[in-house]
Amino acid sequence: DLTPNSWEARAEGASLYGFTDYPTLAERGTTVLARGEGPYVVDTDGNRFLDANAGLWNMVAGWDHRGLIRAAQEQYERLPGYHAFFGRMSDRTVELSEKLVEVSPFERGRVFYTNSGSEANDTLVKMLWFLNRMEGRPEARKILTRVNAYHGVTAVSASMTGKPYNDVFGLPLPGFIHLTCPHYWREAREGESEAQFVRRLARELEEVIAREGADTIAGFVAEPVMGAGGAIPPAEGYFQAVQPILRKHGIPLIADEVITGFGRTGEPWGCESYGFTPDAIIASKAMTAGYFPMGAVILGPELADRLFAASAEFTDFPHGFTASGHPVGCAVALKAAEVILEGADGDEPLIENVRRTMPLFAEGMDRLARHPNIGEARYRGTMGALEAVADRETKAPFAADLQVSERIANACHDVGLICRPLGQAVVLCPPFIMTPAQFDEMFGKLEKALGSVFDAVA
Ligand code: PLP
Repeated sequence: DLTPNSWEARAEGASLYGFTDYPTLAERGTTVLARGEGPYVVDTDGNRFLDANAGLWNMVAGWDHRGLIRAAQEQYERLPGYHAFFGRMSDRTVELSEKLVEVSPFERGRVFYTNSGSEANDTLVKMLWFLNRMEGRPEARKILTRVNAYHGVTAVSASMTGKPYNDVFGLPLPGFIHLTCPHYWREAREGESEAQFVRRLARELEEVIAREGADTIAGFVAEPVMGAGGAIPPAEGYFQAVQPILRKHGIPLIADEVITGFGRTGEPWGCESYGFTPDAIIASKAMTAGYFPMGAVILGPELADRLFAASAEFTDFPHGFTASGHPVGCAVALKAAEVILEGADGDEPLIENVRRTMPLFAEGMDRLARHPNIGEARYRGTMGALEAVADRETKAPFAADLQVSERIANACHDVGLICRPLGQAVVLCPPFIMTPAQFDEMFGKLEKALGSVFDAVA
């Protein structure tokens, strides 16, 4: 509806979007959302959509969780804002730090707050740069990540991101090195087993460390399951292969758990699902169930001690955001930890529903993977992707101008399902509150959309 003064015309008149392809937008138009109910959002015309991406992977408790809303309301009444600077912070901030360390895989640790996942990654990198400089190793600045990684959009976190679209900004900055994506289905060489593939990636890491010099590298940052790169679980044994190499060279391993944290993979942290303990964790998104913008760097014991010592001995850590440790965000995050991991107000923890519905998710994905134009169904917990291919044998993609995944997502949209096209894959990452009937609705609608689009293009 583009009549003057319609919501759509007004949105397109004065707003800018993130990651929006304007020619496609001109065909499809803007959807302006007015409210939410459970895992559904409703637009200004009253159309209802099951959001199979939980917003941007974050609205894990759906859109009308009373406990989270009340936690924010109560905190707004008590102390509606404060910072965490100059030796002051709110009582909620103190409590949240204790809670995050308690639910983390670390015995001890310290937490620094940001407003987003991007800022948490920037903060982590600045912490490593600061530490190394204060400890007399100012040259240890390079950051290792992977091709297809997504770590955010600020200049540093976009440099960590391993996507070619950052070329338009002249990024990455120097010193950000991207290793091979651990996606076995796409990256393996002819005849290479999964174990051989993992050994090759481990050798590559050794070679990069030897070439660059271990003493020039500040850290290795990785998502346990890659998210915006296309919901890519790592090849079997990947973290077990890379972590000993990093340890041998004294390079910290940081898990970017912005998507995987707080239950997405069926464990509180993705690193727990994959059997490794990192040196620090980046958290955001489900940390507040999306009810407040917030991110955090959770340092494990060694990095926490080093940062604290460096700040105490040399200079303060000159970094922080006005809203770092915002009391309302902290109150919401405390409630979210309870709601997701412990069970709040007599309800079971949402992570139990994730565990119960993971088999339904797997079954649905495997069923859709039988379509001849699906090359791979990959998933972990309740995040995953269906990769479209023109030819299953050769794994050849469709011609890019067919915009297959965008067409599938648009066909889903037309029947009330939001899912995300990423490359030639369609990504699913539904809220943690989904019922079995809603899983049926999601896979049923997606199956029809896939069928109609593949009939049209294949
Ligand atoms: N890290 C990961 C793994 C993410 O998926 C994202 C966002 O999608 C970010 C960092 C950036 O978070 P934000 O968009 O809150 O800056």
